[in-house]
Parts: sequence; structure tokens; C-alpha cells
Amino acid sequence: MPVRLAQPSDDSVGPYNRLSSSQVNAYRSCPRLWFYEKVRRFKMPQIPVLYVGRAVEEVFCRMLMESPALLVAKASPDTISAIPLDEKGVPSRTSVDPWPAERLLSLPVNLLPSSMEDLRSWAIERLKAHLQPALKSMKEEWQKNERKAGDWDSVNPDYCLEMCINGLDMHLKEVQRCLDANGGPMLKQWRQGKRPEWPAPDARRYSLSNNHPLAQEGGVSLIEAWEISRPWFVDPNAGKFAMNAVHPEHWFQGEYDLVYRWDGRITIVDLKASIGRGDRSGNYVEQLRMYAMLWWVTHGKKEEVDGLEIWYLGANAIKTIQCPSTQEMAKMESELEELWQQLRHTTPSLDECPPTPSPVRGFKAGGIPTEAPDEVRCDRCDWAEVCPGGKGDDDLPEGGDIQLPGTSSPIDLAKIGVLDPRITLVAEVFTVMGMKEARRPQVTVSQGSKFAKVVFLVDSHEDGTSSWPTELAKGDMVRLDNVIPTVNWKGEIELKVDPHACMVHASSDEEASDLMEFRARWNVTGKLVYKFEKRGVGRNGKEWHRKGLMLLDATGAMKVEGWANDWGPQYDLAGVGDTVVVANIGIDAWAVEVRGNVTRNSKIHITKRVERD
Ligand code: SF4
Repeated sequence: MPVRLAQPSDDSVGPYNRLSSSQVNAYRSCPRLWFYEKVRRFKMPQIPVLYVGRAVEEVFCRMLMESPALLVAKASPDTISAIPLDEKGVPSRTSVDPWPAERLLSLPVNLLPSSMEDLRSWAIERLKAHLQPALKSMKEEWQKNERKAGDWDSVNPDYCLEMCINGLDMHLKEVQRCLDANGGPMLKQWRQGKRPEWPAPDARRYSLSNNHPLAQEGGVSLIEAWEISRPWFVDPNAGKFAMNAVHPEHWFQGEYDLVYRWDGRITIVDLKASIGRGDRSGNYVEQLRMYAMLWWVTHGKKEEVDGLEIWYLGANAIKTIQCPSTQEMAKMESELEELWQQLRHTTPSLDECPPTPSPVRGFKAGGIPTEAPDEVRCDRCDWAEVCPGGKGDDDLPEGGDIQLPGTSSPIDLAKIGVLDPRITLVAEVFTVMGMKEARRPQVTVSQGSKFAKVVFLVDSHEDGTSSWPTELAKGDMVRLDNVIPTVNWKGEIELKVDPHACMVHASSDEEASDLMEFRARWNVTGKLVYKFEKRGVGRNGKEWHRKGLMLLDATGAMKVEGWANDWGPQYDLAGVGDTVVVANIGIDAWAVEVRGNVTRNSKIHITKRVERD
């Protein structure tokens, strides 16, 4: 099975603490780099090529989902996209509504492709139909990203299409093999409508009650070969990370790109919208070997993968990886579990993640190993300005106090790692609206003469339970667990409910914090790791512009952001590596991430500059 969902009753690890192949590869390439990105949550610059890779994969999978027996070449790209999903974003097993492909009648025979060339032409038209909307939505996502870098004009849609067609030609070889094998060993059961537990996405429900609607008689037809050889992949309409294969003990997970299995052999394919040159190609080999281990473990150690391939769509080349033996997989599993204990079960400190990068590996187009380049990993690292491996050092600020110019008394500087943005309190429901409607309720609570608005940012807690009680009425006593108190621009207290918080019924004698007990303003100091900004146009047609920075101290890191006009001129003067103080900020949070909010009463001051050339 290509998917093995987490079992909530046995899952003591949780979705955010599992190890993944990208984490393992990051740690092995440099423990400090892993620490910065996974513990301190530094975000690397988001260049368009990262989004192009996702668009190409999406376009390819949307084309694979479709059938030339149901859609003409020029059909709308969203003809079969309305897949029913469950609350976790997985295609629904219980929906009784018709699935998109079931609403479509088979096309007349004269409109069906009659040769491999016809099939290829149809599929290219489908790729073209999906490419433009996929690139448009990726561009919008890139534009919204506060860490966006580079220029979207560097994206060449023709090259994207070329990569998709390269992938199509690789897939058509499977279709041809399936034709030559007369449909392979599963032809009969496919015709009878028998499907695996996780069928290849084709916009039909999981199990069919009758013969497959596209089944024919006699030797396998071209249409049948297209349907039967379709690999499993994540339905592009499913929720993000909803269809992982999770280790039975929940400490590792992965998401396969393509799994071919029509011929009774299991081949896992990883799609790369790249040429395959450079160090990263070494990571992909390790990633696929880990996937082979994951498949073996999630099949009770009774079924092994038969093939591992990387499809370099930019180089139009397939790289075959040797499958690991059972001994190698057993060793890999125990090493990875040990690594999980070291990295995710407990969080290592900065000192435990030294700046010791591994040597850069050499690969040429198609992921072919070659002589290593004459460079060190730190030369191209995004964190070289603050890391001792580059121009930085570990001499990081750690709270204290400081007297800023123009002020009469010193201010205390909080250590970032000890900022606690959450409180738990018991209050009485003062108003409640929207409980009967399918949206988040609007609730205000009171404690004596003090009032606060509850802002539900999510529908459910990370443990899967609802973020609010099913029944709620004025006068009920509620406990607001781990909510984030902030003060909005009108001066009202807001209690934010994110995946780490919730509202439950309480009795009036429960002890909890006072509504006014939280500290509203803080001062922090840290090294500037990077700046970010985003702009947009509000619903009222007015342009908005926000700016921020990532600060690192000896105990943690945090993003501090605010409206562009609220940052003083020192924001523009501060550079990466400088030490700054940001005074009089509010704090906010999302899950484990703590953020600072700058307002017009906040102040930024550079306390130490790095020497620049
Ligand atoms: S600069 Fe070098 S040592 Fe530091 S995180 Fe990057 S690769 Fe690792």
C-alpha cells in the first residue's frame, strides 16, 4: 500500500515530530544547517524554481488522472477535479455523491486514440491545459510568500511543458509495456472492477460495484493499457501531506511520488523537475533508499520494492537506484530511529549541532556521479552570514538589559527561548453567535468586568478534537486552554485559538490565570538573520505593506513583523549579522512558533554592527 495513515490512538509522536528523508539529508549534510532550518525555523529564500517543480509535478499527475476515454483533448482542466475529501483532506471513502469520472459517459469510439501517437498527442494537450492554471496558482503563492526571492520572469513555460512531456514519454513506455504484456497479471481483476485498497487516482471511488466501466473483451486495448498502467500518486486535489506512508511506530514518514505496480512489481519513482546536476542528487538516492525501507516496514517486512527510479525531467533521463537488501533496510531503520531519538524525541541544543558540513558531492546531468567540485558547502549556504562555518559566530545575545539612546532608564530584554505567549484561563461565555452554522463561532467571554474576544484560527486541535464545544450558550463557564492573548488595534483583548489551544466546558471553581495577567509588551534582542516583506491589496482596494526580520539569540529565534510604516529608519540600516534590539513589541504565536508584533510604539535599534567589505 502506498499510503499508511497515522493511527491516532497509537500515535504518541504527532505529525510535526516525525522524521522525514529531507530532515535526515539536511542533518547529514550539516548538523548546524538542520538546526537552523528545523529547530530555529529559518526559511531559505523562496526562488521560483521551487514552485516550478511543484507545478510540473501537479500538471503531470493531473494528466495521469485523466482518461482519453472520458475527456476530449481540449476539455476543461477542472473537469474531474471535484474529488470528495474527508476532514483530513484524504479522498473520501464514505461519500455517497457521484465521483467526477462517474458523471462522464465514455466517448464514442471515433473520438478515442487509436495509436500510441494519438494517445501521446491527447496527453500533451492535457498537459498544456493544466500547465497554465498550475503556473498561475504557483505564481500567486510565490508572490504571497514573505521570503520570495528571484524573478518570476525567469520561469519559462515552454521548458516546463518540455519537462512534463519528458515525464509523459517515460510513462508511455510503461503503457507500451502493459500493452505488450496484454495488460499484465491484473487485467482480469481490473476488468471485474476489483481495485487495490489505495487505487491509482482516476476520479472514481475506492471500490467499484460492477465491472470497470471502461473494460473491454479480448486482448487488452490501448485505453485499458492507459488505465491499468496508471501508477499510484497523491491525488493533486488531496490536502497537503494528507497521504503519507507513516512508519508503524510513527517516527518516520514519507510521501511517494509515483508507485508503479501494474505488472506485479513495485517500482517507486521520484519526479525531479531538474537536470540532476550538483550535490542534491546524492540526497535523492538516499531518499529513495529510505522509501524502500519505509515500504518494507509498512508491509510487515514481508514485501520489498522491486525498483527505485529518479526521473530527471529536465535532463530527460531516468536514474535507476539499486534497492537495498533486507539487512541494509534493517540497519537503516535502526539508524534512523536512533537519529529520531537524537533529533525529534528531544530537541538538541545549538552546541549539539556543530557547524561541520559534509563534503560537497559531484553529479552531472541525469544524476550521474562525477568528480566533486572544488568548493565547500558553506560557500553557497543561506546561513553563512550568521554561522561560524561562514562569516558568523556563536557569540549570540542572551537577554539582559540595555539603555537605548533617548530613553531615561534601562529596559529588560527577554530571552527569545523563554517567551511564553500562551495562557490558560476560565471565563464565562458572554456572547455566542454562529454555533448552528457551518462556520467558526463568534464568542466573547468575560471575567468579572473584563471582556475578551475569542478568535478561532482553526477548527480542530492538533489532537484532532474540535477547537470548541459542540454546545455553547451565554452563561456557560469555559476553560480556554493555551490560548494566545493579544491586543488588537482597537485596544480589545483577543484570545487566539490555534492548533495548540482549545475551548472546553469548565466548572466555576477551576483555577486559572486572570484575563489581565498576561504581559502585553516585550523587548527582545538578537542577531538579524534575514529580512522579509510582503505586499498586497486589501478587500477595500487599499495597498498594504508589511516588513519583518528573523532574530536569533542564544536561546531561540523569532520573526518580528509589522506594518512597513511602523518600522523606523534603523530597520533599513540594519544588515544580516547585525545585533538589534526591538523594544515594546506584542507577542503572538502559531503552534510552536512565537512571533513578535511591531506597532507604531515599537522601536528598533542596532546595537552592534558587523564589518562589511
Ligand atoms: S554555513 Fe556551513 S556550517 Fe553553517 S550551516 Fe551552512 S553549511 Fe553548515
